[in-house]
Amino acid sequence: MIDRASREFRSYVELYERASLLELGSLADQARWQVHPENVVTYIIDRNINYTNVCVADCKFCAFYRRPKHGEGYVLSFEQIGRKIDELKALGGVQILIQGGHNPYIPFAWYLDLMRYIKRHHPIHIHGFSPSEVDFFAGRFGMSIEEVIRELMAAGLDSIPGGGGEILVQEVRDRVAKKKAGADRWLEVMETAHRLGLKTSVTMMYGLGETLADRVEHLFRVREVQGRSGGFTAFICWPLQPEHTELAHFEKTDAVTYLRTQAIARIVLDNVPNIQASWVTMGPKIGQVALRFGANDFGSLMMEENVVSAAGTTWRMTLPEMQRLIADAGYVPRILCPPATRPDRGPREGRPQEGLPGGDRRGGAVGGAPRIRRLAHRSSRHRRAVRGRAVERARRPARHGASARGRPGGLRRDRQRQERRSPRGPHPQGVTCGSGSGTTRTGSPREKAGSSSSAA
Ligand code: SF4
Repeated sequence: MIDRASREFRSYVELYERASLLELGSLADQARWQVHPENVVTYIIDRNINYTNVCVADCKFCAFYRRPKHGEGYVLSFEQIGRKIDELKALGGVQILIQGGHNPYIPFAWYLDLMRYIKRHHPIHIHGFSPSEVDFFAGRFGMSIEEVIRELMAAGLDSIPGGGGEILVQEVRDRVAKKKAGADRWLEVMETAHRLGLKTSVTMMYGLGETLADRVEHLFRVREVQGRSGGFTAFICWPLQPEHTELAHFEKTDAVTYLRTQAIARIVLDNVPNIQASWVTMGPKIGQVALRFGANDFGSLMMEENVVSAAGTTWRMTLPEMQRLIADAGYVPRILCPPATRPDRGPREGRPQEGLPGGDRRGGAVGGAPRIRRLAHRSSRHRRAVRGRAVERARRPARHGASARGRPGGLRRDRQRQERRSPRGPHPQGVTCGSGSGTTRTGSPREKAGSSSSAA
């Protein structure tokens, strides 16, 4: 239970509400450099596969789903899914984000067979089934959350996307997604997954008529769970895409709101390692700016996205374009290494989303506010010193391909070095990517809106 009357809570709401845009950005940028002192921005190539668009949840903000018996409803066959994975792999992709609607006609054995089929015939990291889907499976098939996750893991599930989080305040969910997992249940699924050894991403879709305090409560609740479990690898937020939905009369929020929201998330979530920029919903230029507002990850270069595109948002880019955008913003682009796939899942080398050492070290809901108050009241000289040390570290001879920002030709050499190191060589130039959202950091269709959006 979040105490909205606490000093800490009120101080964050006040900061979010009253600080200037640049002040918020500066604080978020400091927090980013403290967590990620290297001048690197990561990204991943994956594909959003929506196995079905049939859904009975009737979320008011969703333009993707079709009711049962609708002529446009579909369920993909295993072979169709396999072909999509092969296409992804041919382009250097390392992960699928698989999620779908709450389809009452699919038996649980279908999901398990699908996992086994993928691992047997098209092995790849499976980032799948948002908490809302897991909750739907549990209710539909008379199982506990733990049983559902255990069975999916045994069949091949590698991690869980943070889709369907929207705003984790029940009154807000009751207005827009009444039939879907509630706020407590959504977090329960995530915490259970973490306890069973799965990493997950976490999302926030705002612009649903909630208050700033509701958004801060969402962040507090995430931080609280992370303080206990340490299993969230990345956070991504994006605004409601209202076109073609029941909420089409809602005003679309602007880029300033996005930057402020991402910044406050970076500041509050001091125990979540990665923040992803949602260029898919905000466009590439705001995506670049977001890298100075707390984001250290450019999300996913997705081959396919069906959810935010159904709501009229269609930002796409090629891989070279993504790398150029990151470099032009002053960072070294670094593709994430392929995660190990089951059954030989080992340490996921190269994945920066493994959680901060000591998931609870930063203290959950009681640790953050004093920390940010300290940040907020540090002298500008101190802030410059912190930033200077981080830049200095980035300028040292690169041990891990770290940036040589400031050295003539440094970025170019970094890119060349990165390409030489890549086991696949330079990536194909024709890869296009769809909607963003959190990579394992990955999520439901909506999680992909962010990179990793939320169908489900
Ligand atoms: S967001 Fe997901 S759960 Fe909600 S209606 Fe769309 S597909 Fe169904």
